[in-house]
Parts: sequence; C-alpha cells; structure tokens
Amino acid sequence: MAFELPKLPYAYDALEPYIDARTMEIHYTKHHNGYTNNLNNAIKDTNLENMSILDILKNMDMSNMALRNNGGGFYNHSLFWTIMSQKGGGKPSGELAKAMDDAFGSFDAFKEKFSNAAATRFGSGWAWLCVHKGGKVEICSTPNQDNPLMPKTGCGGFPILGIDVWEHAYYLNYQNRRPDYIGAFYNIINWDKVAELYKANK
Ligand code: MN
Repeated sequence: MAFELPKLPYAYDALEPYIDARTMEIHYTKHHNGYTNNLNNAIKDTNLENMSILDILKNMDMSNMALRNNGGGFYNHSLFWTIMSQKGGGKPSGELAKAMDDAFGSFDAFKEKFSNAAATRFGSGWAWLCVHKGGKVEICSTPNQDNPLMPKTGCGGFPILGIDVWEHAYYLNYQNRRPDYIGAFYNIINWDKVAELYKANK
C-alpha cells in the first residue's frame, strides 16, 4: 500500500510571519511530496510495502539510502506540520513541562539547548526533543532526513518535537540567518500536540 502525502493542517500562510506562505507551499508541495513519492518508489515490490512507517524507520537498513532519506523525509515532515500551529507558542504545561524542567532545569534552559542543537547542526538536518520510556526527555540532532527512531543515529527515544533546519525550510525569508528562524519557531510550537505525543510515547 502506498503512503499518501498527509493533508497540511492549515493554510500556507497560517504561520506567517514566522514561516512565509511561499516557503510553506514549496516545502509541502515539492519537498514533502517528493519524499513521499520517492518513498513509495523505494518500497515498491518489496516486503516493506505492507509495513507501517514507524516499523520501516525502526528497522531501517541504514545502507539503503533511498529508503533512509525518503522514509525519514516522509515521516519527519508529517510530524513537523503537526507540531506547529498559528495558535502555538507559549510554554508547555503539566507532565511534559515537569519532564522538561527535570531534564533541563527551566523552559529557558530548554530553549537554549534546543536552539543550540538546531543552530550547530552542520549542513542539513533536524533538532529533536525525544521522550524515553519512563518519561525522561532529551535533546539531540540528526543529519539529513535521519530520525531518532532509526538505528544508531546517536539520538534515542521517540521524537515529539522537531525543527527542520534544511535551508529549504527558511532560506526565502531568513536567507543565511538560521538562528532567526530558530528563534521564530518558538512562536508557533503546538505544545498541545507535543504533550499528546509525550503522553502516548512515554
Ligand atoms: Mn524540509
């Protein structure tokens, strides 16, 4: 069964001025759509055709670059759209906030560490907030379209928040100013969704 490009949960301009409409449209209709089509090509006529995307990621053959890049690209962007919202921003609350305070000390300390992971990822990739079984959270980053669920990425746990730091995610609006894009991201984080993912995967 082929994977389908998930519907974007808001209009292209919904996250303005933090993410501009043109970037969102190209990112979704070209990049995410491309990863989806190429993932389908990579699994066609293989025993992966009936596997869930989570099982494909967890059992990834890291030497299969077409599957690794496009399976990651498909899943990472599917997650990314949901953890942003025009009604986002602010701070997490409840048990997620407590887990983050336990791990990082404060919300500001979380922001500093997460921003640093995103800013220092050389080239293209993602920074993540992941939850481990038992509820502990950690920050890490991966290159390209790798995802913490894949084997041996140096990241562990289940990703509940991610920021895309590929230039295609910000260059039209921010050019080379990746730190400005990272700073803007905090205005649109959908903490309700992150908390839901925390609860489901802790
Ligand atoms: Mn992207």
